[in-house]
Amino acid sequence: MFDMTSLLLGAAISGIGLCLTMLALVRGDETSRYKITWAIGAGLFVCHVFAYYAFAHGASLLVGALACAVQSVAALCLYVSVRQFVTQRFKPLATFLWIAVPYLLTAPPLFAAGYDGIALVIQNAATGTLLLMGAAVYLGIRHEAPTVIGVIAVLYALTGLSFLACGLVIFLEGQWSIGYPPDNWAERVNVVISVLAISGAGALTLSLDQTRVARKNQLSAMSDPLTGLLNRRGFAFGQSDVFFTDTAIVLFDLDHFKQINDRHGHAVGDLVIRTFADTLRLAGRPTDRKARLGGEEFAMVMHGVSPPEARGLAEHVSAVFARSDISNEQGETFRCTVSAGIAFGDVGGAEMEEIMARADQALYAAKRDGRNRVVIGKLRIAS
Ligand code: GH3
Ligand code: MG
Ligand code: MG
Repeated sequence: MFDMTSLLLGAAISGIGLCLTMLALVRGDETSRYKITWAIGAGLFVCHVFAYYAFAHGASLLVGALACAVQSVAALCLYVSVRQFVTQRFKPLATFLWIAVPYLLTAPPLFAAGYDGIALVIQNAATGTLLLMGAAVYLGIRHEAPTVIGVIAVLYALTGLSFLACGLVIFLEGQWSIGYPPDNWAERVNVVISVLAISGAGALTLSLDQTRVARKNQLSAMSDPLTGLLNRRGFAFGQSDVFFTDTAIVLFDLDHFKQINDRHGHAVGDLVIRTFADTLRLAGRPTDRKARLGGEEFAMVMHGVSPPEARGLAEHVSAVFARSDISNEQGETFRCTVSAGIAFGDVGGAEMEEIMARADQALYAAKRDGRNRVVIGKLRIAS
């Protein structure tokens, strides 16, 4: 329906649009690097289209060689962009040297010697392989968003295969010296798939990027910057609505913490808070949800525990913390203690807020009874 020129024009327009879109969405941090590389790739692809068009309309073999070289580097940029998106800190120089140098050393002499067909086979094979490698890199992170990443990988793979088909057709027909751009079914399929797949993959990658940003923001809104534990909001998020008798919440509050701040300074106070957070992380069970609720107050949810087990776990955390030496700025070491209150869910189910209030009462009792101890609130056997 369309001739090669119309198809190439469509590809160029789509490439310019993508290049500008990617550049417009660049943020000033490392995670945006892939967009710049992608935009350079799309820009080079547009340059390739114009050089190719000129080659098709009578320009010299040198222009043809240039068009091919530019397209190879464009494909390389796409591959590097994929690696940068996936790994964030990917260093592209080695990949550029690995692929661009062998290509630049082989293609121009082949064009100059009149073997443009062989150069095109090499270029199509290299581009196709790069795009298949890009698909494989994406598959490596498919757990992040299986459907979107699956579609992106398929788009890259299809484009890669269409380039391999272009090379294969020239190879099978033995067209070692052509003198003009090849125009066969594989070339046409290749241009259509390239436009569809590269714009589709670009748009999907941007949506994936947005999902990543949203997830990162959600995570930072739910975590405590000083300790890396969940904060109060993160602690409550995603919890079941009601808790039964096999689930306990333990509240910890450091003893005489104000005195520690007064005696050693706020920075050492922060160190004590971090030390307790590390203790909770390491001495508590890995599967239990742990949070810093604020100040020097912490909480832990324990599922599948009996009262003696819950007490044992809380006492273990408290004992490990009480044995930890903390150094102040003068190099003197000191130790701290912590009090804990535990409350369980009900037979008929109890809401988290209610259990937290009961754990707080138990914690208050632990403070009142002399601190450095664990108190379990009354169990409610009947619903
Ligand atoms: P108690 O044994 O009864 O719990 O005594 P306490 O001194 O620990 O009592 P309280 O809970 O009133 O004191 C908490 C102190 O924690 C008050 C506040 O200045 C301090 N604090 C709150 N947040 C931070 C923080 O992020 N860093 C530091 N260093 N101190 C904090
Ligand atoms: Mg407190
Ligand atoms: Mg306290």
